[in-house]
Amino acid sequence: MGSPPPLLDLVGADTQVPLLDGRWVGYANLDGAASTPALRSVAERLATVQPWYASVHRGAGYLSQVATALYEEARSRIGAFVDARDDDLTVITRNTTDAINLLAGVAPGPALVLDVEHHANLLPWQRSRHGATVLVADSTIEQTLDRIDATLAAQPHALLAVTGASNVTGEALPLARVVAIAHRHGARVLVDAAQLLAHHHLSLRTSDVDYVAFSGHKLYAPYGAGALVGRRDWLDAGRPHLSGGGAVRRVTTESTEWADGPARHEAGSPNVLGAVALAAAAEALQALDLTALTAHEAELRNTLADGLAALPGIRFARIWADSPDHATVSTFTLDGVEPGKLAAYLSAEHGIGVRDGRFCAHPLLDRLGFPIGAIRASFGGGTRREEVERLVEGVHRFIVDGP
Ligand code: PLP
Repeated sequence: MGSPPPLLDLVGADTQVPLLDGRWVGYANLDGAASTPALRSVAERLATVQPWYASVHRGAGYLSQVATALYEEARSRIGAFVDARDDDLTVITRNTTDAINLLAGVAPGPALVLDVEHHANLLPWQRSRHGATVLVADSTIEQTLDRIDATLAAQPHALLAVTGASNVTGEALPLARVVAIAHRHGARVLVDAAQLLAHHHLSLRTSDVDYVAFSGHKLYAPYGAGALVGRRDWLDAGRPHLSGGGAVRRVTTESTEWADGPARHEAGSPNVLGAVALAAAAEALQALDLTALTAHEAELRNTLADGLAALPGIRFARIWADSPDHATVSTFTLDGVEPGKLAAYLSAEHGIGVRDGRFCAHPLLDRLGFPIGAIRASFGGGTRREEVERLVEGVHRFIVDGP
């Protein structure tokens, strides 16, 4: 039986790459957790707005008015993508890292984070003015939630910053329970949704999550734009993320009156094309049939998990023993093999793109017993089953034939 088509039509899905022996094969891109290729509909949308390229917010000309409208419309759509509350702000950022740094700059007190986080959701909090408590996650979700509860009860924190899906294992804490615990202790919740939103919807309104950060390039838009969406008061009161033109109401040689709203944090000329692309990708994801996506991803996951588990010497990374098995990210090692060597072999001999290393999550990799790193394969709506099967076969061949 042939491989069913992917659910998403991605630019470059048929790109051929050379193998060591000189043959060319279709690239099996199993590294969407790092960056997803753009949707064809996003690329088409970008082509339609390029002729309207002009300065934003400052120009009086017709094209400037259109470009400003495109930017502000993109902002609204990006907010709508996460079902922002009426009073929430949507700040356009460079990416998730930028969004979390922004929030860390305005949060009025210390943050609580787990050691499972991507460095983007760890280092900004450690470096922030009020600092952070880094909590080692327990081996079960239940006990981890108890630890969070006890820590917040013992010491007030302004914010709990949690991943919506780990970039190492795809696992996450149950958001509704996280929010209930945090709010009971007066802490707000930030969800690092970099790995979440290509697979699931998130509604700020119904989840009561206070802030969400995400990146366009992990959501089928090109590199360059992300967003921070959430409660207005900290953003309006806090220190501007960047200083410069566009973020101010009035400047004299002695003083500066900063703007409020998103402009306060968006000094400099904005990334209009990035915002438009992110909005177009967000719209496409919102329109996607989530039941079909979930079924497609479950089939890929089972193919990957069953195929690799049948091979000798494979060890998977897992944070929590009781987390539901729904991940679209799988991290593993092969006994006695340096991960970079296997990753290079998969690329050179099979045309497969996986990631190797420590995935910007050093504390987690160390604690789970992968100090030299691991291999990560990830997939989503743009992945074909044949690509996952090729990975399993590639690892199998590595074991049988040697590199
Ligand atoms: N958070 C998670 C969970 C991630 O996986 C990543 C990127 O891999 C980031 C944050 C940072 O994303 P960006 O590099 O787009 O800022």
